[in-house]
Order: sequence, then C-alpha cells, then structure tokens
Amino acid sequence: MEKVYIHDKAFRPLMTALTIQDRIEKMAGELNGLYAGKEVVLLPVLSGAFLFAADLCRHLSFGPEVEFVKLSSYGKGMASSGTIRAVLPPPANLEGRHVIIVEDIVDSGLTSDYLREELAACKPDSVAMASLLYKPDSFRGQTPPEFTGFVIPPAFVIGYGLDYNGKGRELNAIYVLDEA
Ligand code: IMP
Repeated sequence: MEKVYIHDKAFRPLMTALTIQDRIEKMAGELNGLYAGKEVVLLPVLSGAFLFAADLCRHLSFGPEVEFVKLSSYGKGMASSGTIRAVLPPPANLEGRHVIIVEDIVDSGLTSDYLREELAACKPDSVAMASLLYKPDSFRGQTPPEFTGFVIPPAFVIGYGLDYNGKGRELNAIYVLDEA
C-alpha cells in the first residue's frame, strides 16, 4: 500500500481493507449472539461512521432499525474543539429498545459521553457502543466502547469514514499521519 497525501499532510498505511472487513465480520458475529430476538436500534454517528455502519449492518441477523445522529466535536484540523453540538439529535422513540451506537473512533471519549447522556433521557432498555477504532491513551471519558474493532495509538488517522479537513473519508483502508 502506498502513502496518501491530503491537503498538506502525508499518511502511511495502518490497516488494509481486508483487515477491517475481517474484524467487522467478527464483531457482527458477537453482536448477533448478544442481540438475537431483541428490539434494536442501530445508531450510527454521522459522518465518520457511515462506511463502518454500512458494512457492519449487512452482517447483522437481528433486523435492527437504523437511525442516525450527527454530532460535531472537531473543528478544522486534528484536535478536538471540546464543544459538542447535536446537529441531528437522536430519535425520540427509543424507550424500551436496545441502542447500539456505531462510532468510527473513540478518542477523548467526550463525544461518546455526551451522546450517552442524551440517550439516557430517552429511556432505552440498554445502550452500548460499537466503535471501529479506540485510542485508550487519549481517552478521558466515563465509559469506553463496549465493542471495539481495533485499539490504536493516539495518532491521527484517516480513511474508511475518517477525514482530515473533509477529505479522505472514501478510502477503503486506514492511514496514519506520517510524522517522518
Ligand atoms: P472524541 O470526542 O475525542 O472521542 O472524538 C470523537 C470524534 O472525533 C470522532 O467521531 C471523529 O469524528 C473525530 N476524531 C477523533 N480522532 C480522530 C482521528 O484520528 N482522525 C479523524 N477524526 C478523529
């Protein structure tokens, strides 16, 4: 795999499309075992989780509903702005249902904490998060993801839904900032 260049930065390959798809299939298998027979709402967080959610839900056998939420925590660049806004809030009809939040990445965990708090007010039966990537070394939230695709170091990554200033989401592999 080659490096990719986005705006002013170079990114080197971190994981291949095949590695990602293999892991997603395994995660779906785990979810299928745990959520069989339950009323589930899959809640992908836009925009970053759009590819992960699309690939994950095609392996799910418990017939979830799919709703979306859009939050913004990052401004331009590579550091969180720290301020979270619900651009598209969670749906109102979650009472008595099991919610699986689908995230691209959990970094500081502030977005995830904010969303879990918003969702608690909707009285779902349970809330869990499936995050493709998790950076435990940057995490300072309350609750880590219940389901994690890959644990990664606290470096900036792009591809497979993740962007750098709006670019790179369409890549089917994941790349990490090349500091060299
Ligand atoms: P957190 O609130 O710091 O956990 O960040 C959550 C959001 O920040 C994610 O859903 C991503 O949209 C974005 N983010 C965090 N780390 C990265 C990264 O390495 N690359 C691209 N976006 C990221």
